This record gives sequence, structure tokens and C-alpha cells, in this order.
Amino acid sequence: MHELSIAMAVIDQVRDAVPDDRVESLTLRIGELVAVVPEALDFSFGLAADGTLLAGARLVIETVDGEAHCDGCGRDTPTGMPPVLWCGDCERPLTLLAGRELEIVRVVVADEGPDGTAVGDTARDTTRDEETSHVPHR
Ligand SMILES: [Zn+2]
Repeated sequence: MHELSIAMAVIDQVRDAVPDDRVESLTLRIGELVAVVPEALDFSFGLAADGTLLAGARLVIETVDGEAHCDGCGRDTPTGMPPVLWCGDCERPLTLLAGRELEIVRVVVADEGPDGTAVGDTARDTTRDEETSHVPHR
């Protein structure tokens, strides 16, 4: 299961970064082309975090839409999912610009202070294009 291995890798990285802190929430930025099902990742994360200092942490997932550039006509175009990396106008391959991200962008630990609590509203860069993506926010 794809999402479980991602969840375990993320947890390993967070434990390396903040080995002694209880984590309240963490924010992941995940490209559309990684093909993660947010509900499945959330579920897997809950399982994998059980018994660790990440147990009960809130997982926030930001999705980055796949985007590619055509050197022929110079346009940037959404890749869609499954991705199309071919320009229908120029008959040329496209260069992938975005959509393969899998990054931990923010970790909030329990003793970080009052401004660490409202992650969904205060995390930087949350007002980008992926607000319009189809990933449900729960
Ligand atoms: Zn083109």
C-alpha cells in the first residue's frame, strides 16, 4: 500500500527532526502525480503513528497540481491525472514543472506556543492554486 509506505517514511523523517517532541500536526505538500489518496494517507498515518510521539497528530495535506511546460509554444499546461506529458499542438514532449512534490512543509510540536495551534489558517503558502484542486479538505 503506497500510502502506508509514505506515511511511515514521513513519520521517520519527523522523528529524526523532532525526536523528543510530541507532534500536534504536520503539513505535507504532495504533488498530484504522486497519486496519493488523502483519506488513505490519513488512515495510514494514524496506524503508523500509533505508539509514537506523532500519535494523534493532525495531518494536513496540501496538493500541488501537476503542471508542465512546452518549449515549443512556451505554454504551461496542467498535466491532468493520469498525466499527459505531450503537447498536442507542437507534438513535443513537455517538461514537468510541478506535481511530483512530496515534502514536509510544517511540523507543529505541542510546546511550540500559541501561534502553533491554528495550522490550517496560519501555515505559510496555503493560499496557492491548490485551493482549487479536487482534493477534499476535512
Ligand atoms: Zn507546444
